[in-house]
Amino acid sequence: MQYSSTRNNSLSVSSAQAIASGISSEGGLFVPKEIPHITAEFIESLVPMTYIERARAVLSLYLTDYTKEELDEYTEGAYGTGFSSADVAPTVSVGGGLNILELWHGPTCAFKDMALQLLPYLLTGAAKRVSGGKETVILVATSGDTGKAALEGFKDVAGTRILVFYPEDGVSPMQKLQMTTQKGGNVGVCAIYGNFDDAQTGVKRIFTDPAVKAKLDENNMAFSSANSINWGRLVPQIVYYFSAYADMIKQDIIKNGDRINFTVPTGNFGNILAAYYAREMGLPVNRLICASNANNVLTEFLTTGHYNRCRPFHTTVSPSMDILISSNLERLLYHLSGNDSDEINRLYASLAKTGEFTVSADILEKIKSLFSADFCDDTETKQTIHTVFEKYNYLCDTHTAVGVGVYEKYAAATGDAAPCVIDSTASPYKFAKAVLEAVGAGKELPPDEFSMVDELEKMTGTAAPKQLKELKNAEVRFRKTVRTDEMEAAVYSLLGIK
Ligand SMILES: *Cc1c(COP(=O)(O)O)cnc(C)c1O
Repeated sequence: MQYSSTRNNSLSVSSAQAIASGISSEGGLFVPKEIPHITAEFIESLVPMTYIERARAVLSLYLTDYTKEELDEYTEGAYGTGFSSADVAPTVSVGGGLNILELWHGPTCAFKDMALQLLPYLLTGAAKRVSGGKETVILVATSGDTGKAALEGFKDVAGTRILVFYPEDGVSPMQKLQMTTQKGGNVGVCAIYGNFDDAQTGVKRIFTDPAVKAKLDENNMAFSSANSINWGRLVPQIVYYFSAYADMIKQDIIKNGDRINFTVPTGNFGNILAAYYAREMGLPVNRLICASNANNVLTEFLTTGHYNRCRPFHTTVSPSMDILISSNLERLLYHLSGNDSDEINRLYASLAKTGEFTVSADILEKIKSLFSADFCDDTETKQTIHTVFEKYNYLCDTHTAVGVGVYEKYAAATGDAAPCVIDSTASPYKFAKAVLEAVGAGKELPPDEFSMVDELEKMTGTAAPKQLKELKNAEVRFRKTVRTDEMEAAVYSLLGIK
């Protein structure tokens, strides 16, 4: 299987090259030239399999230049022991027709682990082939969860360094502590003044600057990306849509071939794009429901075809979705335009220049045939956490609650009674304050993050992940905050080069 770029459809590279480079040199994202098709028998064969076996089956369709032995080793390493659920990503029916795909049983308690536990293997495997022994420098912009998951995935991986930038006031206290206490000899963490989009723009600029590249070259280093623009981040996420469907068959909720919907709490459009690939491959999916918070740029876009990032930025209780530039949307538009990279260049030149673009009527029609979209503000989100807990004794985090809230609005508005799986993207204990406020509805809050965690455990009878509780006594290693124009210097300083 070969990959081309959303901004140059004549390019042709292997999956290892796409993963090692992260982003294409002209600024486009790598996309498969053809999306593989599966059969009903393929799905049937997944039903009795473990998650690791399912991962091997799906990944091997895309990562054709990795050997079977490599994929066996990588999937075992990624999903073998680091997850607190033996099923890795269980689908839980909580009642009222809500099927929740829990994607947060990994080491950092958010769904980013699903991809970032595997990516270091894919990347070091790729670097061996294509970058001639250079040290791989992973540069990450994070809205909170990617940073920690990438740090945990890459810590002390030979031949790699990892540097993470996060918005100083844009992450939860637990997320911040997870990053600033990160252990490992090859890690660096730095806050920036600004929001996630500022961090992401800064990282993209450093990434594509030829002068920076030359300086890294001199030091025998090369950048790669662990953000969801990297194909190696996206492909592991396709797996769990197949796995959830197989679990729904296994639990007798559906029969093979029945169409289901997926609702995905969305920020950078990576997670829901993986669901789109699964659908295009032939997984029986009807609607893809895109759930946003008050930063509802995608709700507007998917319903009108007009993308406009020039709008107020809201800091919400679901910070990992506080995003106005959804990078992975570019991949969807590329596919829907019939692989027309001229069209994508035109749209993204407009976005860079004016902050907006409008897609053709043809593309909009295709979008509407696949996607529904809506959003929940913070009040609705907290209300949803409250009701889901009252009704089903199930505690969900703020991001998952956006998904549940949007699904309920969708079901009420359309009467669509097809079974739906809602992605649950984080442990509620990563966002203890907002979740406690929601469940306790008006009760006075304890004074600090860790007493809130204790209180939430007491109140709900659910256990907090031990890796979050242990942060209470962990040593803070990284305290620096820089302006976005100082990010390049911060990179050199963290790498120890001049
Ligand atoms: C990253 C993240 C999201 C958004 O996922 P995208 O792939 O960026 O759309 C949602 N919820 C949580 C908890 C996250 O960490």
